[in-house]
Amino acid sequence: MSGSGQTYFQKGFNLKEQVRPVLAASYHSKVVDRLKELGYSARAGDVRVKLAREFGFCYGVDRAVEYAYETREKFPDRRIFLSGEIIHNPEVNGRIEALGIRILPDHRSPEERYAAVEAADVVILPAFGVPVRELQHLRAKGCVLVDTTCGSVLNVWKNVHRYARDGFTSVIHGKHYHEETKATASQALTHPGGQYLCVRDLAEADVVCAFIRGDVAAADLLHRFREAASPGFDPGRDLQRIGLANQTTMLMTESLQIQERLRAALQDRWGEAELTERFRAFDTICSATQDRQDAVLKMLDEGGLDLMVVIGGYNSSNTQALARICAPRLPTFHISGADRIQGTAIRHRPVGSHEEVAASGWLPEGEVTVGLTAGASTPNNVVGEVVENILAQRGRTTDELTAA
Ligand code: SF4
Repeated sequence: MSGSGQTYFQKGFNLKEQVRPVLAASYHSKVVDRLKELGYSARAGDVRVKLAREFGFCYGVDRAVEYAYETREKFPDRRIFLSGEIIHNPEVNGRIEALGIRILPDHRSPEERYAAVEAADVVILPAFGVPVRELQHLRAKGCVLVDTTCGSVLNVWKNVHRYARDGFTSVIHGKHYHEETKATASQALTHPGGQYLCVRDLAEADVVCAFIRGDVAAADLLHRFREAASPGFDPGRDLQRIGLANQTTMLMTESLQIQERLRAALQDRWGEAELTERFRAFDTICSATQDRQDAVLKMLDEGGLDLMVVIGGYNSSNTQALARICAPRLPTFHISGADRIQGTAIRHRPVGSHEEVAASGWLPEGEVTVGLTAGASTPNNVVGEVVENILAQRGRTTDELTAA
């Protein structure tokens, strides 16, 4: 129990002022401030750096990180745990651990994941949320829960609940193993008969469409989606009425295509007249993700860039989406942090690959314009350090930045 007896907190502890200095020292960047002052575009010598208008920490991540620091302040003597990574950024997670907050790795069973947690402890739930069973398990333990689930994720859950209540299977465009998608999928099971199916990309959506049109057998579909469907999923029964939802951080254009393809498949199977009874869709990509994708598209459309550097954890879905937008248009380097640029080499993960590779000569000679963006889990200090390291390739420093 906390001092007041309250064990569930969703709105922080009003300790903003106390944690502000440490947050600023940890995540703020003078270089980023300077770039913003200069209109998001600046040069030092023959290197021009252009920053997307929307990038980096989103409102949900900002809030979750702040609550983690407030929790430490509020409960200085308690053991504090965190359900998985607070966000997909190794540096931020490292700093959280340095506060003495222990990150509990994912586990199939809540009993094992939270085995170390006792009633006197505090558990922080991340911005992605946690599956229903985990929340129930923690509530039963009686420990203090600090729930930082983002409002945009809660909005997706609301839609999934409606689908399940009305007899629609939630088809979730997302990675079935991602924390947020697991939590979202679990919401479908809170209504009797509720079902879900997670589709990762267009290729998987096409398999579902082919089943609906009668071109793929139920057994083949079940085999393909064995990890991604609700227990007891029956394709013949459960793909007759579909409601679309997204992991909030997927690529918007792909989500819309998946929606359209599934709508067309249901229409082919059941006829247009039945479509309103069989198909629902809400756009559940969050506005922060959308803004970042729109901003990078705008920057690409404006032209004048020689290459893109996209900063964010390699397992960050929204960062991957940003890199996927850039890669068909320009040489694109997705890097997990500033330390990936060392000497004249860059270590990056090409779009679609699971391996990091090293490249030298990645910064063309002479006048060059580098586009920059960062995923929602990348703090400004990392963006600033990347700018420093890029300029250092040409012996320049951020003090030399002037309007481009
Ligand atoms: S990416 Fe969107 S849904 Fe996820 S934490 Fe940020 S604002 Fe919330």
